[in-house]
Amino acid sequence: MNNVKALAVFSPKEPFKEITINRRDLEPKDILIEILYAGICHSDLHHVNADWGEETYPLVPGHEIAGRVVEVGKDVTKFKIGDYAGVGCMVNSCGKCEVCKANREQYCSGVVFTYHSHDKLHDNEVTQGGYSKNIVLVEDFAIKIPANAKIEKVAPLLCAGITTYSPIHQVDVKKGDKVGLAGFGGLGHMAVQYMVALGAEVTVFDITEDKRADAKRLGVIRYVNINNPEDLKGLDNTMSFILSTIPANYDVGMYLKMLKLDGQMAIVGLPANINLPSIRIDKLIWQGARKVFGSQIGGVKETQEMLDYSVANNKYPEVEIIKADGAVVTEAYQKVQDGKVKFRYVIDMSTLK
Ligand code: NDP
Ligand code: ZN
Repeated sequence: MNNVKALAVFSPKEPFKEITINRRDLEPKDILIEILYAGICHSDLHHVNADWGEETYPLVPGHEIAGRVVEVGKDVTKFKIGDYAGVGCMVNSCGKCEVCKANREQYCSGVVFTYHSHDKLHDNEVTQGGYSKNIVLVEDFAIKIPANAKIEKVAPLLCAGITTYSPIHQVDVKKGDKVGLAGFGGLGHMAVQYMVALGAEVTVFDITEDKRADAKRLGVIRYVNINNPEDLKGLDNTMSFILSTIPANYDVGMYLKMLKLDGQMAIVGLPANINLPSIRIDKLIWQGARKVFGSQIGGVKETQEMLDYSVANNKYPEVEIIKADGAVVTEAYQKVQDGKVKFRYVIDMSTLK
């Protein structure tokens, strides 16, 4: 066991405080990663606030992790000491079922999430996330980060990057497609970059004027402030794909109407249980031949593909680096909640002494 400093909350909505947690000794296929940077995802807020149900405390969030390998088990082949490595939302899965064999481990019933999971493969211990000095995991679930990557910007790719890259490629967005992105935050600004790079004509939907110029700078053709009814005119039946990353309640029907025949809407934003929007099935019929589906992160293979693509093509999140200090991280959470971050906070874990 090694004792590791981390930042935790001890009950819902409480400030972050320092804590010491245990990481297991290395097994033959395990690697130990010194965490350099950890992104703050809106899912971390949902967990800390117990938005999705009961949590186990103390809770160390963090599933956007970029670091350096400092120790390897004797059977490790994918990494050597000194390599950069990333960890996203998962640290293990059963490895044997149909979905694991299809490289879609995130849907395995035995998936072990990076934090907030009971790790059945390790005495059911509760996993703890990346707001910590290091992490131990089996090498198969770590992502290789090229040595030339802008390492301070990589962490959010491990969740915000893959969660948007995956559905965009599932529906095969192409040059000239008219597409929409709802919720222009951490996930949303990665989605925009990927879809613009594919040559799509992207319309962004958000609830503020503050990000209009940023959306234009990233190459969208239209920015819609949904609080401004004028902006919404003429958009019904125009889009082949809409991706929603919205973390709050909203009118799904409004977006369904904007899909053209055979259009698809992917939902990745997951609001709190008490705030979940719903879809009226009559709308699915009167505006039929449109599809709506949910999507969760991506498998390990696809995450590696996304990371290699993003680094090679300079598709990085826009980040604000903050100190690994309880009060600073608590304040950052409030700013994410209030929509005051552009676009992702990343904690510099080297500052946690
Ligand atoms: P952010 O807070 O960074 O971004 C959310 C964006 O949505 C903000 O720009 C916010 O605006 C905007 N928004 C809020 N309400 C509305 C609305 N009614 N209409 C349009 N836009 C709105 O969050 P993240 O990008 O980190 O995460 C988004 C969601 O995705 C969360 O629910 C998260 O849990 C989920 N998620 C899901 C994953 C999956 O695998 N499916 C993986 C990762 C995250 P403003 O800033 O102005 O308030
Ligand atoms: Zn996330």
